[in-house]
Amino acid sequence: MCGIVGYTGFQDAYEVVINGLRRLEYRGYDSAGIVLEQGTNFDVAKTKGKVEDLVAISKNLIGKSHVGMGHTRWATHGVPSDRNSHPHISNNGKIAIVHNGIIENYDTIKTMLTEKGFVFHSETDTEVLVNLIQYLMDINADIDFPTAVRYALNEVYGAYAITVMHEDFPGVLVVARLGSPLAIGLGNNEYFIASDASPFVEFTKEAVYLEEGHMATISLEHGVDIRNIKDNVKIIPEVQQLKLSLEQIEKGGYEHFMLKEIFEQPKSIHDTLRGRLLVEEGIIKMAGIWDHLERLNQAQKITIIACGTSWHAGLIGEYLIEEFARIPVEVEYASEFRYRNPIITDKDIVIAISQSGETADTMAAIKMAKEKGAFVYGICNVVDSSISRVTDAGSYTHAGPEIGVASTKAFTSQLTVLSLIALKLGKHNGNLSNQEFMRLITELDALPKKVEEVLETTNDIVKDIAKHFIGAQNFLYLGRGYNFPAALEGALKLKEISYIHAEGYPAAEMKHGPIALIDENMPIVIIAPKQGHYDKIVSNVQEIKARKGKIIALVNKGDTQVASVADYVIEFPETSECFSPIIASIPLQLLAYYIAVYRGANVDQPRNLAKSVTVE
Ligand code: GLU
Repeated sequence: MCGIVGYTGFQDAYEVVINGLRRLEYRGYDSAGIVLEQGTNFDVAKTKGKVEDLVAISKNLIGKSHVGMGHTRWATHGVPSDRNSHPHISNNGKIAIVHNGIIENYDTIKTMLTEKGFVFHSETDTEVLVNLIQYLMDINADIDFPTAVRYALNEVYGAYAITVMHEDFPGVLVVARLGSPLAIGLGNNEYFIASDASPFVEFTKEAVYLEEGHMATISLEHGVDIRNIKDNVKIIPEVQQLKLSLEQIEKGGYEHFMLKEIFEQPKSIHDTLRGRLLVEEGIIKMAGIWDHLERLNQAQKITIIACGTSWHAGLIGEYLIEEFARIPVEVEYASEFRYRNPIITDKDIVIAISQSGETADTMAAIKMAKEKGAFVYGICNVVDSSISRVTDAGSYTHAGPEIGVASTKAFTSQLTVLSLIALKLGKHNGNLSNQEFMRLITELDALPKKVEEVLETTNDIVKDIAKHFIGAQNFLYLGRGYNFPAALEGALKLKEISYIHAEGYPAAEMKHGPIALIDENMPIVIIAPKQGHYDKIVSNVQEIKARKGKIIALVNKGDTQVASVADYVIEFPETSECFSPIIASIPLQLLAYYIAVYRGANVDQPRNLAKSVTVE
């Protein structure tokens, strides 16, 4: 969600900041802006729209400065507009700020500042913060700029990642974080600031991830000085070596990141399994689980908390863990869990799932679960993300950077990790016989190959089917058992990127409502693998046919029963029911993708959506 880039060094700050903002576009945003230091003045350009709209109005800034910062805004306070775009400048014109997040008590501070004569030009909470910094400097003649930022941050609550510049402190960037991520790239005589490392990975592999509640004053002269916002205690930074490569964050010949990521799944699933699944030895080795196996095993219940696609992965996780480990599982939306006083004790395990590892609601739910004494296990994709740091233990999905806003490869890697956890627990607690365990891990090991096969055999077919549904206004997705959550996820993908209304349902529930919607204009995607409730689903297909619904059926190779009734057929290779959502998800992702592309939608950055949802 929204992005920050900052730079001080010897390169053209405009180029570094603009290219950096382009790299952060995937996070989702509605306006963009830049501010450059120009002697003792600021040059500012900002606009509603995309980074390219910003470029169109700011080319005069090329080559003008070596210090600057930029922002892509995802509006929370005030509509997307030129005026509300960042940077925001203080009333005296001297301080510039870019901000991700929300200042929750902005209203009270705004009232106080208004009484003191401050004037506001935007509706944002951010403009309040920059004026608070000015005010604190106005009334405390003896404090310097970083101190004023620190004092101001001690007055506000909410979530933020900020970068601030002051005209009287040339070459100095002050940054801080609470709830929103911020990384500092350490170059040779240059420093970078960004919401993640992608804007500076081509310039340096050394980075410091700012911790919660910390701020840093950065300048070429004095380097990076990190302090605790609360009491100014100096912090010795931990320098990380970045593993991210430029190639990983570029499109590599694909038209969209989403398509590239869909096609990366044989590799990403393989990477999730790598070093963990040792089929010949008959073992699953997961550092995060190994050390806490007993604790997990003795859990009275496991609660999975997540949002969006990760929540769907959680539902499949419930089926997997209950089937193989026989431990009761509940799956909750993090946003509901955190506000409803759930029953959680120190005997419970909470599994938190988040691609970005920054999801604000999931973070808050984790904190609450920990306060109640639960052991919290994290499943994240982004290494060193906030969630990976606050959880007691966890597993990375290792799917590699996911840039398309609609999650694809991260989802199938989450399912792969959950499969490993369920099988490991089941084997350990004796609910899964050795023979069954061996059969299942052999199948799990074969998944990357099957995913490759399904990509090869279904891409053209799905692309062709998609053409018939460009004008659809609604879609139903149906599945049973493990494929019910897969249906939910298929519907979500379509909604997210094509803006067609879609709903997922357990196939049998159709009779309890959605069947009323079925007529010759209603497309229905039905996931009907041979394994798992096949006969039942055949009856559901007949019920739809009798009402003239347009059936797109996902069936196993060689299926005749469902295929003969369906209007469109997509075949995929057979696997145990528990792994079938991983395979079935591939054509569902492709279907959403091609329909969206044919409708001319911006697939990688769908309207209103953000990749990393850092506000609640
Ligand atoms: N709350 C701020 C605004 O609405 C920042 C939003 C963002 O994170 O981009 O302007």
